[in-house]
Amino acid sequence: MSTRIQKTFEALFQLEEVRGLFRESLPTGLDSEEETVFRQRIADLKAIIADLEAGTGTPKVTKIAGSIDLRTREEEYINIQPIQAAGRLTTEARKALISYGDGYSTCDACRKPFRLDKISKPGIAEFHRELAKFVNMDHARVVPGARRGFQAVTGTLVNRGDSVIVSALAHYTEFLAVESAGGVVKEVPLNKKNIVTGDAMAEKIEEVRQETGKLPVLVMIDHFDYQFANEHEIENIGKVAHQYDIPFLYNGAYTVGVLPVDGKKIGADFVVGSGHKSMASVAPSGVLAMTDEWAPKALRTTAMTGDLTKRKFGIKEVELLGCTLMGGTLLSMMASFPTVKARTLKWDDEVKRSNYFIDRLLKIQGSNVLSEYPRKHTLSKVDTTGSFDTIAQTHKRRGFYFSDELSSRGIVGEFAGATRTWKLNTYGLNEKQVHYLADVFTGIAEKYGISVVK
Ligand SMILES: *Cc1c(COP(=O)(O)O)cnc(C)c1O
Repeated sequence: MSTRIQKTFEALFQLEEVRGLFRESLPTGLDSEEETVFRQRIADLKAIIADLEAGTGTPKVTKIAGSIDLRTREEEYINIQPIQAAGRLTTEARKALISYGDGYSTCDACRKPFRLDKISKPGIAEFHRELAKFVNMDHARVVPGARRGFQAVTGTLVNRGDSVIVSALAHYTEFLAVESAGGVVKEVPLNKKNIVTGDAMAEKIEEVRQETGKLPVLVMIDHFDYQFANEHEIENIGKVAHQYDIPFLYNGAYTVGVLPVDGKKIGADFVVGSGHKSMASVAPSGVLAMTDEWAPKALRTTAMTGDLTKRKFGIKEVELLGCTLMGGTLLSMMASFPTVKARTLKWDDEVKRSNYFIDRLLKIQGSNVLSEYPRKHTLSKVDTTGSFDTIAQTHKRRGFYFSDELSSRGIVGEFAGATRTWKLNTYGLNEKQVHYLADVFTGIAEKYGISVVK
């Protein structure tokens, strides 16, 4: 590891030690013993800072709590891991996390009627209004992951045996959200280009009606799927769902937070996004937004009364189990939000850089892209069976030679050992980094005698 990165972590940890001293002392200040420890810690910190500045010294801290390794891959490498790219924290989110990491840290100023989205200090209530606006819907709630957003909707709309239409590329969490509500998934097939169309949706709805005698109760479709990150006909699908009067859940796990999403224009009844996948937030976090029409149902408040104590719990929302993200997760979302809003407006540049990389990869003979091309997203599925895999066939490290070559050049996040079909995500890489990335691939190809078109 780079000494400077090592020393940065050591300095941060040393400051946390200092912070720990304040927590153990009286509000009136440090006593003389604590003052001695404080001075020692500051002296240690200064030595670390000197090493940090000069890039000198040996690693002194390599574990957290004696067993947990430091995670430095975002500092040391270019990380092209498909699901991690847009969930990397902003600097502001990392500050929020160290400041609000304590358990129920959002609850300092929670006042009647005691609900997370009503708290105004810090500005959680305002953030909820902003979130709804951000996806152009009427109401928004934060949820522990997109999956919990799906589940709140299926818990509201799906009864035992009901059909829910998902895509043939649906994420497993969509299956599970339907299953947890007792429903049955029905998958819309893809066309030859691996795209879900409005026409296919209409056919599937008819098929389900004929087969079960009932209409599906929900249509849940990903704008960009997780396998190819192909763009599906989301607006046509919304129209078709509405023609049948079936509510439509727009799955924006790969869109909300990276590109502009207009829920009303799409015709969505629900918009779901993932905080840790696409909104630069701590996991588990996400957003569930909806129109006025659905709020009384999906955001229904408790109606239960204790038989013995006669207790009632006011305006707690049933599907959300009252409150959801009560600490550092939510504050990280809020701290990243200004950056996230701004970055959606630069999506075209992200797509350009994605295409730049893919074009360079395609110049390496035998390489292919399995996702739709030109790319409309930064996540792509590629096929290097005819290029990098030909080397793996006879290499003593098999497919791992490729990971070795990448990591020795500072690239991580490809599926270790995979040289045939695999996914990568260029989201967040700047011009300099994406050029470097492409050069690395070209360099490895040339090293092994795979021809590269100039
Ligand atoms: C990642 C992903 C999810 C799950 O998101 P979480 O926020 O982790 O629950 C759901 N759907 C799709 C299409 C995804 O890519």
